[in-house]
Amino acid sequence: SLITGRVLSVHGLQSRVLGDDNVVYSCTVRQLLKSLSTDQRHVIATGDRVAIRTADNQEGMIERVEPRSHVLSRTSRGRQHVIVANVDWLMIVTSAAEPGLKPGLIDRFLLTAEHFGITPIICINKIDLVDAAEYQQLVGTFGQLGYRVLTCSAETGQGIDFLRQVIANRETAVVGQSGVGKSSLLNVIEPGLALRVSHVSSENQKGRHTTTAAKLIPLTSGGFVVDTPGIRQFQLWDITPGEVSALMPDLRPYVSGCRYSDCLHLDEDQCLVKEAVADGRIDARRYDSYCHLLEEDLMNKGR
Ligand code: GDP
Ligand code: ZN
Repeated sequence: SLITGRVLSVHGLQSRVLGDDNVVYSCTVRQLLKSLSTDQRHVIATGDRVAIRTADNQEGMIERVEPRSHVLSRTSRGRQHVIVANVDWLMIVTSAAEPGLKPGLIDRFLLTAEHFGITPIICINKIDLVDAAEYQQLVGTFGQLGYRVLTCSAETGQGIDFLRQVIANRETAVVGQSGVGKSSLLNVIEPGLALRVSHVSSENQKGRHTTTAAKLIPLTSGGFVVDTPGIRQFQLWDITPGEVSALMPDLRPYVSGCRYSDCLHLDEDQCLVKEAVADGRIDARRYDSYCHLLEEDLMNKGR
């Protein structure tokens, strides 16, 4: 029979699909689908909504893939590789302490969310470690920009029920610096998950090899979280310097009004963005962050 389902993970030519009957099927892809695709090796992506023909043995054949909404993807050698499809939320996890809040890093993740058109949720974890006064200002700043900010503690359970409600029935990709408590949060949201929690000693993870193979984890309350070592810390993929300002909602109105169409809003005279920063209509910290991003990006891309 033909049923619909969601691709949990892809392993070469095989995919694990959670059928709407709540059974996980091991699926192959129908040859016809492959021949219609320009990229035959990546016809199916994690998160795809599919129709599968099932047999009695928990095996299935993917007959159809629904059009994808918001995807996280990466371009390499001129090709777009979908890492995960149909993402509803980008949950940006940060911690109030150990490691301390890094607004600049939040800005980068926000840019990524804006770039992919995925709604971000900023989640400040480890609020058990500090006084509320230490993160209230940040909650306010990002809240004023129209972003949703939640506070919680995986340790005490504070804020967890609300977080669980927010992500119920959605597909949520979890990102954030290492050590902020992503695994811990997922473990309390979904008891029984038992993801490995790293010890605070925070070994340097920079050199660590990460894969980009994404996996959907079904939640008891409905919906999925995407846990992917490779996307946990990803940022700014495929964003060009000229695009950065348009991805910052607070800069955007001044960008479109700026008299110079090719203005990068850095050193130009009579730039509307700089005027707005000067008289406080744009938050100075956000503008600094913008300048940083642009300089880094310009250097990385050798322009
Ligand atoms: P990840 O690298 O982002 O997945 O972070 P982990 O979940 O591995 O957590 C890193 C460290 O932070 C571990 O030692 C956790 O026990 C600790 N941790 C996580 N959440 C909290 C919290 O809400 N409060 C406190 N005090 N510690 C936490
Ligand atoms: Zn300008």
